[in-house]
Amino acid sequence: MENISRIKEKCVGCKSCEQSCPKHCISIGENKEGFWYPIVDEKNCVECGKCLKTCPAENIEQHRNMPQTVWAWRNKNDADIMKSASGGAADSAAKAVLQMGGVVYGAACDEQLVVSHIEIESNAEREKIQSSKYVQSDPKYSYSKVKQRLAEGKKVLYTGTPCQIAGLYAFLGGDKPNLYTVDLICHGVPSPKFFKKYIEYQNRQTDGRVIYFNFRSKDKRGWGTQYLLKTKTKTKTKTKTKTKTKTLSLDRYGKHFMDGDCYRESCYQCAYANTSRVGDITVGDFWGIAKSHPGFNSPKGVSSVFVNTEKGQELFEKMKPFAETEQATLKEAMVKQHNLVQPSHRPENRSNFYKEIDEPDFVSNLKVGLQLKARIKAILPSKLIQKIKSL
Ligand SMILES: Cc1cc2nc3c(=O)[nH]c(=O)nc-3n(C[C@H](O)[C@H](O)[C@H](O)COP(=O)(O)OP(=O)(O)OC[C@H]3O[C@@H](n4cnc5c(N)ncnc54)[C@H](O)[C@@H]3O)c2cc1C
Ligand code: SF4
Ligand code: SF4
Ligand code: SF4
Repeated sequence: MENISRIKEKCVGCKSCEQSCPKHCISIGENKEGFWYPIVDEKNCVECGKCLKTCPAENIEQHRNMPQTVWAWRNKNDADIMKSASGGAADSAAKAVLQMGGVVYGAACDEQLVVSHIEIESNAEREKIQSSKYVQSDPKYSYSKVKQRLAEGKKVLYTGTPCQIAGLYAFLGGDKPNLYTVDLICHGVPSPKFFKKYIEYQNRQTDGRVIYFNFRSKDKRGWGTQYLLKTKTKTKTKTKTKTKTKTLSLDRYGKHFMDGDCYRESCYQCAYANTSRVGDITVGDFWGIAKSHPGFNSPKGVSSVFVNTEKGQELFEKMKPFAETEQATLKEAMVKQHNLVQPSHRPENRSNFYKEIDEPDFVSNLKVGLQLKARIKAILPSKLIQKIKSL
């Protein structure tokens, strides 16, 4: 039948089709690996084509623009930048839209550490959507809520992976007044089921419950790729809270996220792994900053910001008072950014990666390897690493 079931592995799991079908005959199911895909109740499908019209995989060229200007970005506020993944550019966009009386959508962890898109409407809530969650965020019914907010005349900022932004434009039928979008440079997402299994593994390891997980903590070693987790353990007499930090590449989950052997199939053919951007603004880590703008580098983090559209420029002007900025070039911002050139490579072991996911020892059997360089780097003082980088 001529409906969304023909999208198959190109599906990015945005859930736009589920929210668009006038016959409500699309539901979203999880495959064995734990990724979301649509299931069509073919008996009730009238082949109206609405699901295909609102699917990003069918509308790849919608709202695509080349960056007009590129900036290095560092939030002025210390508390804000320390909670953000890089220079806090996405956070400044959220702050600017809230200041205009708008609402912001972004990825947040709930108490069970399940990641999904939520709406925030106050500065006190900004923290929830700060920092990167390296797992696919559940968009839930956020597109329908955005539509409703826009109809109420509210300004809306939607932040997310490029495919989520593309899903939103496809769902809405194109750009809308009062809508601003920020997409991330993105190399791919592991499945929520993998992350859930990993948290269960950490719970067992610590004999407690993980109550907080930050994939990009700056607390111990500044801007980089260290996670921090907090666990709560109850004994008969007291409750203990412990924290642990580790380099992502030396961790059972983090290593496979960095290696890219656990991504959603659509990530290996990602339509957004290039410089033709879907968001009004694009943000990422400015990894090459120590060489291209050494005076602007900071251990607290630097974001790269691409202004891609007129609306992006309008938002950028409202964000600017919150940060120090320096103009850069696209070439400078593309250093160590393979996903601005091509999609992540699909390693051979991807086909088997999730094979044992339902086994109780799936996570404990994952290998991290010797990785001498990463281990040495993890024990060197972070100031020394910064110095080496700038050389
Ligand atoms: C899966 C993933 C892969 C990434 N790959 C790269 C990369 O290859 N190169 C690179 O430079 N940057 C990458 N990033 C982006 C990078 O980690 C930072 O998010 C970016 O530098 C912005 O930092 P910030 O300080 O400006 O944002 P912050 O102020 O920390 O805000 C974080 C923003 O990211 C959004 N977000 C967090 N987690 C998710 C998620 N799971 N899904 C959707 N949106 C999310 C939040 O809604 C928020 O707007 C990736 C991010 C994710 C989530
Ligand atoms: S073609 Fe129409 S009725 Fe059929 S699944 Fe798609 S949106 Fe629903
Ligand atoms: S990409 Fe989104 S709209 Fe398209 S099939 Fe997948 S979930 Fe549905
Ligand atoms: S790599 Fe592409 S398809 Fe995968 S989550 Fe990122 S934007 Fe979406």
